[in-house]
Amino acid sequence: MVGSGGREHALCWTLRRENSEADIYCAPGNPGTAELACNLPIPSDDLDRLADAADMHGIDLTIIGPEAPLARGLADRLRAEGRLVFGPSAAAAQLEASKAFAKEVMFAAGVPTAASQSFTDLASALAYVDRHPEPLVVKASGLAGGKGAVVCTTRAEARRTVRAMLEAEQFGAAGRTVVIEAFLEGEEISVLALTNGRDLELLPVAQDHKRLLEGDRGPNTGGMGAYSPVALATPALLERVRREVLSPTLEQMQRQGTPFSGVLYAGLMIDAAGTPSVVEFNCRLGDPEAQVVLPLVPGGLTASLMRVAEGKGPSSLEISRQAAVTTVLASRGYPDAPETGAAIVLPETQADGVTVFHAGTTRGQDGVLRANGGRVLTVTAVAASFTEAQRLSREAAEMVRFEGKVFRRDIGWREAARRAERSPAQMC
Ligand code: AMP
Repeated sequence: MVGSGGREHALCWTLRRENSEADIYCAPGNPGTAELACNLPIPSDDLDRLADAADMHGIDLTIIGPEAPLARGLADRLRAEGRLVFGPSAAAAQLEASKAFAKEVMFAAGVPTAASQSFTDLASALAYVDRHPEPLVVKASGLAGGKGAVVCTTRAEARRTVRAMLEAEQFGAAGRTVVIEAFLEGEEISVLALTNGRDLELLPVAQDHKRLLEGDRGPNTGGMGAYSPVALATPALLERVRREVLSPTLEQMQRQGTPFSGVLYAGLMIDAAGTPSVVEFNCRLGDPEAQVVLPLVPGGLTASLMRVAEGKGPSSLEISRQAAVTTVLASRGYPDAPETGAAIVLPETQADGVTVFHAGTTRGQDGVLRANGGRVLTVTAVAASFTEAQRLSREAAEMVRFEGKVFRRDIGWREAARRAERSPAQMC
């Protein structure tokens, strides 16, 4: 397992649940993965040392969690050495690492997405802003940790954002190409599929909460919580997403010589008429989506990952009928300048169905667990109903103690509102 966040802890947890006897190594891992696997102190972008470690430990299957090592070619490197890898090649990871590339793929494949154009030249970008109606979304094309998309209510704001990216280089290399697109109205969902490039198997659908504050206000973050499944994602909608989004994208990737294998993650906007449009693609599991999706897959994940790594279609997954909610515990100052170093006190026992996944934590020489990043922990609850999972996750989040803890108490509010609107008979 490559990576060190909550997603990788959830992946290790799932692998361990399915394979009690396996040797699992996690590089670099975190104090949570240390309880399930052997952590190797190798950063996830050190391709040479990761390849050496795979050799030294005789690794059968490497699973790459985050996008950065995928975009840098870790999967290609290991495959060239004859290893089985779950995760796309660098060329296919462009679907996430370059929004301009993803847009070209979508336009070529006829996949529904917001009208847009990509620019490297300031004057042409500003002229495009002037010709298009408000609001507009201006995006840094490259990897920007989920913070590269700016929804601009006015053209003046769009012009300022374009300048910040192309002129002031405030988004670094990621912002040297900008994508300017029309604003999509609706509700977002995340549809994740395991795929070998042809066949695909859907994971339970999730919805995350990108904004820092309750009521979806405040700055964008890497994600403050998520839940799964989402009632909006009916079987009919998912069939449409398969037919209109996932399959054509995979076929186009195949056609243009960049076949995609791994997790294809479609961030979709569903409008009032129930029509899906792609907001973004990711080339890996989401974080914190993984922390709700994986606990709802009680069996079959390892076998599927292995089959995909071998180029075969994923086998069918067991999907639980329960619901999961995860609440992110962040540090004061997140996302701009998170404080680190606070000592963390976890409760001695947890309620049934509650798991605390580590994200930004560290354990010092003194054995004390401390906050070591913006998102510190994610608290997942799995229960028979959404409402119960929501309550358990919130209560368990309250019980964790560290100085400067920040979290949202309204994770899943859209689902709660949907349920409140329907009569009890309809919810059966
Ligand atoms: P992205 O980095 O492309 O995933 O965008 C981050 C967030 O910005 C998305 O999750 C949406 O909430 C918002 N966003 C991005 N593109 C659009 C769009 N075209 N219309 C409305 N909201 C968008």
